[in-house]
Amino acid sequence: MRILRPVIVICVLLTQWSCTNISNGEQASGATASVDIVKDTSKFINVILMIGDGMGLTQITAGWIAKGDALNLERCPVIGLMKTNSSDNFITDSAAGATAFATGKKTYNGAIGVDPDKAALTTILEIAEKNGIATGLVATCSITHATPASFIAHQPSRLLDEAIAADFLKTDIDVFIGGGKKFFEFRSDGENLLELLQENGYTVADGAEEIDMVKSGKLAGFIADEHPAKISDGRGDLLSFSSLKAIELLNLNDKGFFLMIEGSQIDWGGHANDSEYIVDEMLDFDNAVGKVLDFAEKDGNTLVIITADHETGGYAINAADEDGNIEGAFTTDYHTAVMVPVFAYGPGAEAFAGVYHNTAIFNKMMAAFSMKTP
Ligand code: MG
Ligand code: ZN
Repeated sequence: MRILRPVIVICVLLTQWSCTNISNGEQASGATASVDIVKDTSKFINVILMIGDGMGLTQITAGWIAKGDALNLERCPVIGLMKTNSSDNFITDSAAGATAFATGKKTYNGAIGVDPDKAALTTILEIAEKNGIATGLVATCSITHATPASFIAHQPSRLLDEAIAADFLKTDIDVFIGGGKKFFEFRSDGENLLELLQENGYTVADGAEEIDMVKSGKLAGFIADEHPAKISDGRGDLLSFSSLKAIELLNLNDKGFFLMIEGSQIDWGGHANDSEYIVDEMLDFDNAVGKVLDFAEKDGNTLVIITADHETGGYAINAADEDGNIEGAFTTDYHTAVMVPVFAYGPGAEAFAGVYHNTAIFNKMMAAFSMKTP
């Protein structure tokens, strides 16, 4: 653990790392994101929750076999197992799964930040904002999609993308990067939420190059009108790039930050019963994990949690070879009830060992921040 480095060592390291790029952000567009360590890391903690949507043990195993080498998430010293059921079904969907992480409450499938009676639940992102902690969301789907939405919006159904987009305006979120621009710009109510975001002090950036030019302040970054492309259709390393850009901006806050990063499309490979799609997205997510762990390792005051909302596909590996070829099989084109692993790294990581429910992720993150439920 790196919780209590001697002060003199921290000083040396800060000098050494000041103005050093932790990542080259080898992004298709040539855009780069750097992360400078500028704050006193002895007082506040950062928490980064990384969600591989639909990432069960088999998805992780397939990634390892295809890579032919250890995955970055294997760098985490603490492992737990998580029960994923929602309030009304052993098979959760991503909305109920993310609402459990965000609020500590089980709810019905399809619910976005609301309880089984459709009443709004306070999310960890909202609690963090009230405590002066900077907040961010990054996803490789529309930012209004179920997983990111459940941290910031309160809607009875995940299908209400425009209403979810409007909920972003009701918060103080500092940085969000994902797809879904059209739900802010071309709406059935005629409102242009991009203009309202600008009035609220956000830089609205369209695409990696514009996003990369933002060096401070609040950022609404869009990487697609709806969903970003699959890796195999040329998405490049937008997930790693966006994750590092969010960290760069959030790390300017001297009271710490909360950041949720989603590898959204591992799930979609499972729905498609497509091993190649799963592996491509799994390895892309794991690359982002590596970049985030590099930051956490150098920062020394960042807790990183890597988990999934549920498994997708009932995915199994029936044969594989040393060239990384995988013969996958599936029991369903939907989610399954199997427990998923939790990986943790950094100060407070020990709390994530054991077997527990998805709601415990919220409680453990709240404890890491020393925050109490309002
Ligand atoms: Mg998702
Ligand atoms: Zn799914």
